[in-house]
Amino acid sequence: MSEFRKDPVSRRWVIFSPERSYRPNDFKNDERKDKSNEYCPFCSGNEKKSGNEILVYSKIPNREPNTPGWWIRVLENKYPALRSEKSLEKKGIGIYDKMDGLGRHEIFVECEEHVRCISDLSLVQIEKVILAYRDRYVEIASDKNIKHILIFKNYGEDAGASLEHSHSQLIATPVVPKRVETEIEGAKTYYNFRDRCVYCDILDQELIDKERIIEENEEFLAFNFFAGKVPYETWIMPKQHNAYFSTISKSQIKDLARILKRVIKRIKICLGDVDYNMVLHTSPVNTNNRIDDIFHWHLEIMPKLTKIAGFEWGTGYYINPVFPEDAGKALRDVILDEDD
Ligand SMILES: [Zn+2]
Ligand SMILES: [Zn+2]
Ligand SMILES: [Zn+2]
Repeated sequence: MSEFRKDPVSRRWVIFSPERSYRPNDFKNDERKDKSNEYCPFCSGNEKKSGNEILVYSKIPNREPNTPGWWIRVLENKYPALRSEKSLEKKGIGIYDKMDGLGRHEIFVECEEHVRCISDLSLVQIEKVILAYRDRYVEIASDKNIKHILIFKNYGEDAGASLEHSHSQLIATPVVPKRVETEIEGAKTYYNFRDRCVYCDILDQELIDKERIIEENEEFLAFNFFAGKVPYETWIMPKQHNAYFSTISKSQIKDLARILKRVIKRIKICLGDVDYNMVLHTSPVNTNNRIDDIFHWHLEIMPKLTKIAGFEWGTGYYINPVFPEDAGKALRDVILDEDD
């Protein structure tokens, strides 16, 4: 039984999810290090073990549910942090607030074969991953109880992945997360002052400065963020202003797949097989105050090269040992194969 509890000081909600402590962890078990299909519930042939499909892109007509022959499968997380069948009622206990763990927790299995990293998938396959993100996002946003949809990827044990087969996750919550609120607050303050979207201005500035740019195509720019919290923190931003990821167009999906593959390849060649988190930042949904002009959806990739320690926890400041200009140059200088 998961539940939300509100910190009365920071007003941050914490999700308590005792079931998640029982989730399998293939890194702590030597047997699971074996990469054969047998031990991976996400590999083709093991569909029945990994759970029911919420969404599937089939490769074959009239395919039976939960059988091989698919591009992408979206599954309900077997050990969900949140569940959709809960109620939205808040309860007070003295000074404390809590509510049931209402929400969604889904897994995108990104390929049939046992591939670990999204950058090793074909462009067509990555396009389908992005399309699945969009389809689930649109569907879940139609639930009025949901206020925010987070799509993210944990790659590697240090980044929090418990299975190595390439996958991403979606967690939808009935409240807007504090960190998202803070980012929007900042964007709003900038907008009120300059009358412009801060992210559009960041794009313009990066195109002028050039030294932090890693990749560029028609629809997207990838760069190391000027004030990145962690070394090699990389942002991928659509050039076209839009607050909502759900508006992603066909040509944007194509270009995002291309730039994502190339950026992750560069990171992996430059830094080795480093663990990373990738997070999609997009506007909250079903809220009264729309922020169409203020927010600008984007992806943030955080390689796990440093650990968050006492100083960071105590201050919220980060100590980053690598200037983004140096990181940008290192990533830009990586030589990729022609066909990437
Ligand atoms: Zn697998
Ligand atoms: Zn913008
Ligand atoms: Zn952001």
